[in-house]
Amino acid sequence: MIERTLLMIKPDAVQRNLIGKITDRLETAGFKVVELKMVHLKAAVAREFYKVHEGRPFLDELVEFMSSSPIVAMALERENAVAALRELIGATDPKKAAVGTIRQNFAIDVGKNSVHASDSVENAAVEIKFHFGS
Ligand code: UDP
Ligand code: MG
Repeated sequence: MIERTLLMIKPDAVQRNLIGKITDRLETAGFKVVELKMVHLKAAVAREFYKVHEGRPFLDELVEFMSSSPIVAMALERENAVAALRELIGATDPKKAAVGTIRQNFAIDVGKNSVHASDSVENAAVEIKFHFGS
């Protein structure tokens, strides 16, 4: 099934000039970039994006980090895109991420973990709409 999913390149990776390297991984893995933008999120907007994590101890730090400097958001299309992208980025904590995954290669720690990817087809639709509308 051809699906769409949302990827964000987080501030830590944008700051370290990793936009190109990460995008190359995505395209090499067969993802088509169908929407793309760089944006500096306001804290309130980052908090809205991550509202599923309301009440979690890391939320304030996450919101502060995600609004600290620009991110790159993209909608990606591919067969089985949601699961395939989660596999390509690796586990949330780079110490636990499989060898060769984006987070294992580039992330700094469990918070500054370089990329976000949607975790379900339903959330992908919501997250693509959040950044790109419709
Ligand atoms: N996060 C964190 N500490 C944690 C768990 C998550 O700082 O213990 C941050 C991290 O940046 C992560 C984001 O919150 O990517 C969202 O968490 P989630 O559990 O949804 O992980 P993901 O889906 O990004 O792998
Ligand atoms: Mg998540």
